[in-house]
Amino acid sequence: MLNPDKIFELKRILQSPKKVVIIPHKNPDGDAIGSTLGLSQILKKLGHDVQIISPNDFPKFLKWMPEAKKIFNADFNPKGAEIGIAQADVLFMLDFNEPSRADQLEDLINNSSAYKVLIDHHQFPQEFDFTYSNTEMPATCEMVWHFAEAMNWTDLVDADIATCLYTGIITDTGNFKFASVKPSTLETAAQLIRHGAEPYKILDYLDTFSESRLKLLSRFLDNIQVFPEYRTALFTMSRDELLENGYQKGDTEGFVNYGLGLEDIVFSVFMADDTQKDMVKISFRSKGNFDCSEVAREHFNGGGHVNASGGRSDKSIEDTVKEFVNLLPNYAEKLENTTI
Ligand code: 5GP
Ligand code: MN
Repeated sequence: MLNPDKIFELKRILQSPKKVVIIPHKNPDGDAIGSTLGLSQILKKLGHDVQIISPNDFPKFLKWMPEAKKIFNADFNPKGAEIGIAQADVLFMLDFNEPSRADQLEDLINNSSAYKVLIDHHQFPQEFDFTYSNTEMPATCEMVWHFAEAMNWTDLVDADIATCLYTGIITDTGNFKFASVKPSTLETAAQLIRHGAEPYKILDYLDTFSESRLKLLSRFLDNIQVFPEYRTALFTMSRDELLENGYQKGDTEGFVNYGLGLEDIVFSVFMADDTQKDMVKISFRSKGNFDCSEVAREHFNGGGHVNASGGRSDKSIEDTVKEFVNLLPNYAEKLENTTI
């Protein structure tokens, strides 16, 4: 929650121009990119020297976003990221709960002497100098708006900033579809539209598919395995399948949600090989009171939210599937009793 004493402390720190670094989580999504871009443009207007440093690249379907091209990719230039973070006076961490989610930037964050600010909606946040965590919030972008309200910055929100924040709200709520949406989410969206966000245009950008994404969707749907007794849908995609269809980063984003569209399914899981490393990336989505983050945390080295989580496995995709299918009986009762 926003603490007035901390707001006062941060306002004092930001009274004079500072070197600010803003970090999203690894494999940043629309909310991570939207919140970092929105906040960075506000801070630039206040006269700060701001750099967004992302642990790695982000999907092509987000590259249209205002100032997206200015995001520094630590994967391309690790030394530059190291210098930038070491020199920062203030470090913002957006849309993740602990430094390990920033992958190779973890040690740089921990070793930095900057004033550290966390703004995030994931479970189990680590405490920093300034921690604004609210797991009830559907998107970090909504939190950045509330943070801007608390800092008296909303007058600085122009059409570009509003566009960035609106985009993150859209992508993290499935266009206002998920259970996490609150009255404040729609109120924030309305404010962002007043400040210049154009929902129709933003959705058009987000919904423009590459050919590879459509081909991959077809393969993805073909690969479905349904476990009706466990109200679960499982999808897989091997490295060969990804590469054969011309996979580009971000192409399979959101696919896992299709599983929840099946009648009586409350748990949808997507396992995809990494195209470079021997690792399987897993996405979990659930409905109602089935907490998919528990499965991610306890068995797949991950976490996230009650209804949307992620994790990974170092086994082959075949063995990961076996492991998962063997786990399902442990969750039988919870899955059977899930209410929406
Ligand atoms: P996605 O399935 O879209 O990759 O991730 C869904 C949610 O789970 C996001 O909020 C994301 O931040 C979180 N998440 C994804 N992968 C991981 C992971 O490896 N570890 C943790 N702790 N959270 C993850
Ligand atoms: Mn988010």
